[in-house]
Amino acid sequence: MASNPVVEIDLQGKLTKLASGKVRDLFTIDDRTLLFVASDRISAYDVIMKNGIPEKGALLTAMSVYWFQYLQTQIPTLQTHFLDSSLPPSLESSLPTSQVDSLRSRSMQVRRLRIFPLESIVRGYITGSAWSEYKKSGTVNGIPLPAGLIEGQKLATPLWTPSTKAEVGDKDENISVAKARELVGEEYAREIERRSLQIYWVAAKRAEEVGIILADTKFEFGVDPEKEGEVVLVDEVLTPDSSRFWPKETWEVNLGKQQPSFDKQYLRDWLTEQGLKGKENVVIPEDVVRKTASKYQEAYEKITREKWNSART
Ligand code: ATP
Ligand code: MG
Repeated sequence: MASNPVVEIDLQGKLTKLASGKVRDLFTIDDRTLLFVASDRISAYDVIMKNGIPEKGALLTAMSVYWFQYLQTQIPTLQTHFLDSSLPPSLESSLPTSQVDSLRSRSMQVRRLRIFPLESIVRGYITGSAWSEYKKSGTVNGIPLPAGLIEGQKLATPLWTPSTKAEVGDKDENISVAKARELVGEEYAREIERRSLQIYWVAAKRAEEVGIILADTKFEFGVDPEKEGEVVLVDEVLTPDSSRFWPKETWEVNLGKQQPSFDKQYLRDWLTEQGLKGKENVVIPEDVVRKTASKYQEAYEKITREKWNSART
């Protein structure tokens, strides 16, 4: 029996489920508002594992909320989908207390928006799929880079490297900036790029203050149909699920090889070693679950400078 088996988030029909991603479920509160619920599910190489990581949903929600609030103070003109970390009163009063606490810790109320079909990735350092492409062709998302870069090196300037947002079961594909402009329109693509680079810059600076390198990260944006023209930051933000966080103090000695990181790299490495990369129905062993959970917790504590308190889950 897998530890912490993945369980469905069940609102007992109190709210209608709008969509279910690999990790998050969205429920309709009203025409303009959604409940955005992060489960404990974990995906790697686009496949969901059979068991989850205890407290991951609550931890990533708390981290996203931290960042939404921080970004708002640093970039007052930035629009985000975040509204509130409480539950709608009707849910509070109609679900059993034990369920309410667990649900509240993993939920945010957000603005319901039309989501652009783009993953807006910003890379400050060369690693992962960007490193693989560079090794083959000297480019990243088709952009030629200087010769002689080494794995993990800081890029001269952060790069915007959009990808498609694949349907469940498919893989996201890197696309050129020109293709991104075709997909969402020139104006929106330019605005998404501008905002992404701006947020990356602010967040990387904040992370650096606590000894973390934000190597790369992924954002999503939406638009309110009643306020066309204004892009809104959505989804989760700057968490270990959407970002690579590296400890700054060991970065230099690890140049040219894989960096230790506060995210799911540990799980990815285990899957690769076991020949399970991309396989369905994988049960993660207890020690890998525990190690992954502690990486996520470390990321939370370093970034927010607050101790993680499990009592809130
Ligand atoms: P992954 O991020 O691992 O690729 P996924 O994209 O399959 O997973 P999740 O992240 O689990 O999906 O679920 C979040 C889903 O909710 C995404 O499809 C995202 O586009 C969508 N979403 C996020 N914020 C909003 C919003 N404010 N309104 C409508 N949909 C949203
Ligand atoms: Mg997502």
